[in-house]
Amino acid sequence: MDISAFELNENQRAITERASTWGASWAPMATEIDREDRAPTADMVRSSGEAGLTGLTIPREFGGRGGSALDFALAVEHACRAMKSWMAGDILFSTTCTGPSVLMISDNEAVQRKYLPDIAAGRRTAAIAMTEPRHGSAVTDLETTAEIRGDRIVINGEKRFVTGCPEYDTYVTFVRLGGIPGAKGIGAVVVDKGAPGLELGQGPRCMGSHGSPHGELRFTDCEVPAENLITEPGNFGRLMQAFNMERLYISALCLGLAQAAYDEAVAYSNERTQFGRPVNEFQAVYHLIAEMYTQIESTRYLTYKAALTAERGRFPRALDVSVAKLQAADAARDVCWKAMQVLGGDGLVTGFPPERCFRDVIVSSIAGGTIQILKNTIAADLLGKKLDQRG
Ligand SMILES: Cc1cc2nc3c(=O)[nH]c(=O)nc-3n(C[C@H](O)[C@H](O)[C@H](O)COP(=O)(O)OP(=O)(O)OC[C@H]3O[C@@H](n4cnc5c(N)ncnc54)[C@H](O)[C@@H]3O)c2cc1C
Repeated sequence: MDISAFELNENQRAITERASTWGASWAPMATEIDREDRAPTADMVRSSGEAGLTGLTIPREFGGRGGSALDFALAVEHACRAMKSWMAGDILFSTTCTGPSVLMISDNEAVQRKYLPDIAAGRRTAAIAMTEPRHGSAVTDLETTAEIRGDRIVINGEKRFVTGCPEYDTYVTFVRLGGIPGAKGIGAVVVDKGAPGLELGQGPRCMGSHGSPHGELRFTDCEVPAENLITEPGNFGRLMQAFNMERLYISALCLGLAQAAYDEAVAYSNERTQFGRPVNEFQAVYHLIAEMYTQIESTRYLTYKAALTAERGRFPRALDVSVAKLQAADAARDVCWKAMQVLGGDGLVTGFPPERCFRDVIVSSIAGGTIQILKNTIAADLLGKKLDQRG
């Protein structure tokens, strides 16, 4: 595959190889993880650390690998391609993606010193808790409150669909402080599993992304030390910039899974004969291969381009990464479906890689910002007009 336009450096080529090797080492478990909807998360995180894949973008001063957004995207892409499972991505998410990125923008060095070194080393996993039962896309309406009382922060409210809950150790939680309404009142706090007043529950079973729980948090006068405050209210824009890493993550995950489905389709179409010929010698199938490749390549270029925009700031630019995620989720769904067609009946067998990848990438159209919200972000940037979302 020619990626010379992006001139991967030696370190990035090494990351790509390590991620492929690590992802492949877990591939034999992918079917079981998907079927059981349970994974050996701690073992996977530990092995990702041994492979040099934890804390990829966490600065070196906090024990991280000081890498770029592109390093992270490459690792996610190649781990997912090799394991042929969303789960590979979520393991890398737990020590590099949204939770750690929000911590990285904090002005509070105490909270960074407390958490980032352990996350970087894979000794601690970090989730992001933003979505609530009554507020998903409308995150600026969130109702979970935090009140600073002396040396404690007291939190009340509920979160749902939190990836990694109840397994992850640490929950980077978006909260409303000081009773200030709207975006201006939103800040973030770190809450540890086991904090008094925090209950963690298993969430619903989703159609894809199996192995990774998407659980619920209930805070009832939950207390954490005041040093766990990541940001005061008034920094919503900065918080959402960190969220651009999540959009990049999902773009790279879709890219890797689409590529995995394509790899399966090519191999199968060479092996499978009908009417005395390999099925890829029928022009309809021959063309499907060309279409899939074109969709994957355009996704790759948009994803890498979005990652490279982070070099002008800490995180990818909202416009580029929203375009990448929109394209990636759409293209990956279509590529997986085409791969399923190439496999005929085998393409529909539950748990076979193209079918599993198809269910996984559908999740990407919702998680990390829905298709409709991405389009709002893109059009608002292009037109310089943010439409009023309220009736
Ligand atoms: C597998 C999975 C993992 C997730 N992981 C996390 C996580 O780790 N942490 C976390 O905090 N959340 C997580 N989420 C939640 C996810 O971010 C939300 O599901 C998503 O933001 C949409 O919110 P909602 O489900 O409440 O849908 P709603 O916001 O209720 O949307 C319903 C529909 O209305 C549309 N809509 C809403 N507002 C607008 C608008 N202004 N313009 C146009 N259309 C609109 C939406 O696009 C959608 O089609 C996860 C979700 C899933 C499925």
